[in-house]
Order: sequence, then structure tokens, then C-alpha cells
Amino acid sequence: MNSGPERKGRLTFTQIRGWIDEIAHQTEIRTIIFAGGEPLLLGPDIFAAISHARLRCLSTRLVTNAYWALNDARARDICQKLVDAGLDELNISIDDFHLPYVDPLNVRRAFQAARRMDFQSVVVVHCTGPTTTFNDEQLDALLGEQLPRLFDGARERTLFDTPGRRPFVCISNTSLQAVGRAGQCLLSSDIEMDERWERRSREIGGCPWAVRSPAITPDGHLVSCCGFEVRGNEVLDIGDLAGHSLTELLDQADRDLPLNWIALEGPYAIMDFLKARDPTLPFHERYGSYCELCQHIVTDPAIQKALFDNMDRRVFHILQRREDIKAVLQQQAEVEDWLSEPAIEPQPTGPMPEYQTTVTGGHAHG
Ligand code: SF4
Repeated sequence: MNSGPERKGRLTFTQIRGWIDEIAHQTEIRTIIFAGGEPLLLGPDIFAAISHARLRCLSTRLVTNAYWALNDARARDICQKLVDAGLDELNISIDDFHLPYVDPLNVRRAFQAARRMDFQSVVVVHCTGPTTTFNDEQLDALLGEQLPRLFDGARERTLFDTPGRRPFVCISNTSLQAVGRAGQCLLSSDIEMDERWERRSREIGGCPWAVRSPAITPDGHLVSCCGFEVRGNEVLDIGDLAGHSLTELLDQADRDLPLNWIALEGPYAIMDFLKARDPTLPFHERYGSYCELCQHIVTDPAIQKALFDNMDRRVFHILQRREDIKAVLQQQAEVEDWLSEPAIEPQPTGPMPEYQTTVTGGHAHG
């Protein structure tokens, strides 16, 4: 999203509770992420919201900057309240862009308190680039140990072969992206341009987050994702929840052609398609991430116009892809049904026959 101390918007507990109920009963979404801004600024409401999600059997994650961990006792107290509310995963953010506002010792205190509590996982979220100053070494020194990284040099998920310990602790080590405000204040030399990531993005194709991981803004808009500040964007802002139910807006997004194009074919395929039709479109030579390219497509007036002008040419492919996905899901459901069927009961065999046949070395003996 687009966090900062100047942003004052917030949701009420009544709103959050209503959406949690709707999500639990009428959608397939099973995880609620409380992010911000800073969700703990909601005070008692945030604990009540987590408890309510837990009551509805939804798993929960909370992303915080640890402003509250002013001393060890307070760090323990807040972590305990989060555990008591039923929070599954705590994420603590630290990087060059949080440090002007939050003492790094808060992060250490929050992390040390959290790792001793009964969370499922505790993740330190750390974002770096070629010119950032708070890098891996400083983070290891702050935490007093070298924790496993979620992403390796190729930014692919590292597999940990020893889950089981609770909580699972690690660093989510991501790279800076020139999206939102960062796109205005960072230079291209501040962003790591990784060719392997570009190749991988093309292989992945459709954006896995678009609509599948929607977000609600502080003023109650449902947006397709939290890739950047998408509130008000003609493509990615789905609509105002004041006038529609969440399920209505999700259905609307499911039928929206540009969103389907992004979700099913992805920003790189869109760029390749549009560039082939008009090589003068102002695409950059390279992008640091999926979202950087997507942001350019949906905010640059010339590219956005080309997206709308050309989308009817992709209708057939998009519908075909939806049918393919439906077929795969149907097959998966059938296999799962089949696997969950009770084993066939052995038929009664009656008394053991007096004679047995033992087959040994090809000779049968009566
Ligand atoms: S690629 Fe686009 S739709 Fe997907 S998460 Fe990024 S900004 Fe959102």
C-alpha cells in the first residue's frame, strides 16, 4: 500500500467485523492480513478483529513496525495480547524507510518477545537495494543471529526442511520496488534489476495476487491487491464497499476484462502484446518487478489507453484460459473426492478353505 505518518484514515471495528463475516461465509478467502499503516494504532479494535477472524476459522497475519515495543515488558505485553486474540503470524518491518520513524531496538525487542510466544510464525520483513544502508549485516547484528532468508539470490522461495518448531522464524528479504511514492523518490540505480526475475516473471505469467489477494483501503474501497497505491486507479480499484457488498464487488472483478488479463496472462504478456501492436508505447527497457510494470501499464495514459483499446482482441484467449483453469480445478476436485471416499469394505469370505495353494518357484502344490 502507501503507508506514512501523514495518512490518518482508519476502518471501524463494525466495518471490519462485517467484512470478516462476509469473507468467512461467502468467499473462498481463508487468510486475513491486517496491514497499514500501522494496524496496532487501532488499539483494542485490532485485538477484537483478530479474535473475530479466529472465531470465523480464518487464519490471520499482522504487519507492524513495532513502534509499541518501547521496552521489554511492553513488547511482551502486546505480543501476549496478540497471541491471546489468536494471531497466527506476526510480521515486523524494518528497512531504510522505516528507520527514520522507529528505533531499531523496538524491532529487536518485539522480535525477541514474539519468538518466545505461541505464534505459528514470526517474520522480519526487510527490504533492500543496491544503495540502502541498513542491510543484511546490520540486521543480523541487531537481532544477534543470522536467521534463514525466505528468498534466495534468485528471489525464489527457499524451502526449509525443518518446519515443526513453533514459531517458525525467518527474514522475508525482498528487494526495493519503484512503486508508489518510491517510484517518485528513488533513482533507477537504487533498484536492483535482476534478469533472472524478469525471466521468472514471464514464466509465471498471470499475477497470482490480482483479485485473489484483494485489499480494503482505509476509506472502504475494495482494491485488487496491495501492490502499490491502487485506490482510485481505473483498472485496479474495484469499487466502494459503501454501495456494494464485498461479494458483489468480487463478482464484478471476476468478470472484469483488464483484471482478468492481468491475473491470467500477467503484466509481461500484456507488455509484449501491446508493444507488438505499437512499438512506440513508452515502456521502459526493464522493470524491477511485476508490480512496477503493472503500475506503469495501469497509470501511464498512453499505455492504459492501449490496454483498453486492445482488450477485446484478448477475449478469446482469456476465456480459453479460464476454461482451462476450471477444467484443472474440476479434475483436482474429483481426485480429492475419490481420495476421500472410504476404502472399499472387504467382502465376507466365509470360513478359511481347508486347502491352500502356495506358489513357489512356479510349482503349485495342493
Ligand atoms: S502485478 Fe499488478 S495486480 Fe498484481 S499485485 Fe502487482 S500491482 Fe497488483
